[in-house]
Amino acid sequence: MSITFYPDNDWSMVERSCDYCPEAKCSPGNPDPEHADPWCTGSIREPGVPTCNFANGNATALLRLIGVKSPGPCGEITGALVPEIQRGVIAARNSRKRRLPHDADAYDVGGPGTGHCRVISFGNTDDQTMRRLDYFQEFLDYCKAQGCGFYWG
Ligand SMILES: [Zn+2]
Repeated sequence: MSITFYPDNDWSMVERSCDYCPEAKCSPGNPDPEHADPWCTGSIREPGVPTCNFANGNATALLRLIGVKSPGPCGEITGALVPEIQRGVIAARNSRKRRLPHDADAYDVGGPGTGHCRVISFGNTDDQTMRRLDYFQEFLDYCKAQGCGFYWG
């Protein structure tokens, strides 16, 4: 489960060549199963603009960290508010104290015999939070340059 952020300007899907086809990694029976895609058509259809994708929990935690109150699984920020969101990213990047509550240890709970489904969390380090902030900052830079806002879902 993940949340993707899209600019709210007028964008369309584009088609590009598959990165792995030239090396024939898409062929069925490929010895490199990480990249094998027997359904590959040779091209990939994707948004023609920068987007950002995070796991659900990471997306809502990031939004809270940069100052979005009560972020849900979908929402929108108008272009007029993008500078405020950018200030939230800068504040988070410059304050270890602000990021500290986002550090989490890995845990594994529940499972057979416990009466609860198994939940595995791999934790979160400050480096991961900083990488997400960098990634999101690039997305916001694009939105600001385009004078648009963004939405997520
Ligand atoms: Zn391919």
